[in-house]
This record gives sequence, C-alpha cells and structure tokens, in this order.
Amino acid sequence: MFSFDEKFTIIAGPCAVESEEQIMKTATAVKNAGGHYLRGGAFKARTAPQSFQGLELAGIELLKKARKETGLKIVSEITSIRYVDNFERDIDIIQVGKTAMQNFDLLKELGNTNKPILLKRGVGNTIEEWLSAAEYIKQNGNENIILCERGIRTFETAYRYTLDFNAVLIAKEKTNYPVIVDPSHAAGNSKYVAGLCKAAKAIGADGIMVEVHPEPEKALCDGAQSLNLDEYNELITTL
Ligand code: PEP
Ligand code: MN
Repeated sequence: MFSFDEKFTIIAGPCAVESEEQIMKTATAVKNAGGHYLRGGAFKARTAPQSFQGLELAGIELLKKARKETGLKIVSEITSIRYVDNFERDIDIIQVGKTAMQNFDLLKELGNTNKPILLKRGVGNTIEEWLSAAEYIKQNGNENIILCERGIRTFETAYRYTLDFNAVLIAKEKTNYPVIVDPSHAAGNSKYVAGLCKAAKAIGADGIMVEVHPEPEKALCDGAQSLNLDEYNELITTL
C-alpha cells in the first residue's frame, strides 16, 4: 500500500500545463518553497468542449522535463483508458478526476498497474460510492491508492463546491489509504485556499493538492482559484 514519505505532503502546480516556461517556472517555485510533488494537467476534462483541452502528450513531455530539472515527482490526470500505458510509464502519481471517478473500465485498468492512483471524489458522489470506486482499483491488484476530497455540489453558491471535511475523517476511519484535500477546486477563489489548507492540516489530512500559477490572471484554466508564486510561498511558510 502506498504511503507518502512526509507527514503532510504538498502537491502543487498549475491546473493545466500550458507551456515550457510556465511549467518550469512553477516547478522551480514549488521545489524551492519545499513542495513535494508537481501537479499539472496534460489532458483536461473540461465542462465545455470550447475550453482549453490541454497539451496532451506534449504536456506529459514537459512534466517529465520539469521532473528531470527539479527532482520533483509528477502528478497528472488521466481521462481515458487509451493512455494507461503512457501514464504507467511516465507519471509518478496518476490522478483520476471528479468526472472519471465512476469510469469503472478506467479504474479496473488502473488496477492492473502498480502506480499510485489519486482518486478524487465526484461532486455528486457519496463517501460510500467514492470508497467503492477505490475497490475497483484494488480488486485488480493495485492497492496504491490515495483518496482526494475536492468538494461536492450543495445548494451553496457563495463558493464553487462545498469542501467536505467530514469525508476526510470518514475516509481515514474506513480505509488505510492516505487522504488528501484539494482546496482549490472547492474554493474556486484563491483567497479561500490558504484557510482551507490550514484546516486540512488541522484535521489530520495527509496532505494537500493546490493550484499554483506564475500568472493566475493569464491562466488557461482555473486561474481564479490559483495562487501566484508569492501566495504559494507564504502558504507553505505558514503551514
Ligand atoms: C484538476 O485537478 O485540475 C481537476 C480538473 O480536478 P477535478 O477533477 O477535481 O475537477
Ligand atoms: Mn483545475
């Protein structure tokens, strides 16, 4: 079973890999601040087809380059069963996003790899459904699972999604998997991210995954919730 080396793991990086300059700048900042993993989406599962879909395999190559230069391990989201071999070969932690949490075909195929799988909770899924999705991975032999609470849809409109801290406690009680928190997608606004990160640490989550961008106002994806490099540095110091 997978476990992180650190007591509280920091995974940080842009929502999407956009260019070599963007990912290298971010990777260097993540590393220098004391982050442990670099995240970056190469295949983006966007709500609308007009939205930036990611650099795809070219994005994976840029992540590999960033890993080589900084020594940071890389986390990236898989959106299709078609790329399982690529991800198994190239990516250190394979992320399954909210929209794929119940793509059982994909989960079963990831169960045939031995890579850590970071399984996000779907926005409309119960804790039980989330843990059942993890069972699909485990059933095929891969117990290297990391659970990630990223917020669920409720009636509240003041922020993007409701970060369910109860779910972190219950997931930790019912499984032996590391459980991390993604405050960025829940908040939808960078000004709430640091507070949610501190709360995640306080309740005993095993880490956080946070979106960071050198120029959030120019980001092609999720800029409003992305920390700039100074905000990121400040957050890590506080934590
Ligand atoms: C992401 O991590 O950038 C992402 C798209 O996450 P989610 O699946 O939680 O929306
Ligand atoms: Mn994002």
